[in-house]
Amino acid sequence: MKTKILVSACLLGENCKYSGGNNKNEAAIALAEYFELIPVCPECFGGLPIPREPSEIRNGRVYSKSGKDLTKAFVLGAENTLYIAREKNCPAALLKENSPSCGFGKIYDGSFSGKLTEGNGLTAELLSKNEIAVFGESRIDKLISLYK
Ligand code: SF4
Repeated sequence: MKTKILVSACLLGENCKYSGGNNKNEAAIALAEYFELIPVCPECFGGLPIPREPSEIRNGRVYSKSGKDLTKAFVLGAENTLYIAREKNCPAALLKENSPSCGFGKIYDGSFSGKLTEGNGLTAELLSKNEIAVFGESRIDKLISLYK
């Protein structure tokens, strides 16, 4: 039986990005050779629509570009994603880099200017705190070497 891995659905080509598009990544899709992929979109799991305004984290809270505080929806999305990770017994997750939900290590800095800062998206942070290893798409090789 293959190990189950959570994967940001936008990396698998699902049109769940704020813009209504995706972040299709062939290397992420190819992980299906080694793992059972469990697609997740925390922002959708938090009840946010597609398309939606872009959001970024500022002072620990999540705001849409027009200034709406969406922290509650992002927290709900993170909790629902953790629930699925536990239900499916996933030891690791491949999450889209820089996102206010999925980013791990670096995220957009809250100024909506494309600048990055140190920090984690809400879902990446919650998964990581609950011992689910989080990898961004630039570390797919590492994920394979550790969990294959
Ligand atoms: Fe992709 Fe994560 Fe954003 Fe959903 S919340 S569109 S999975 S980066």
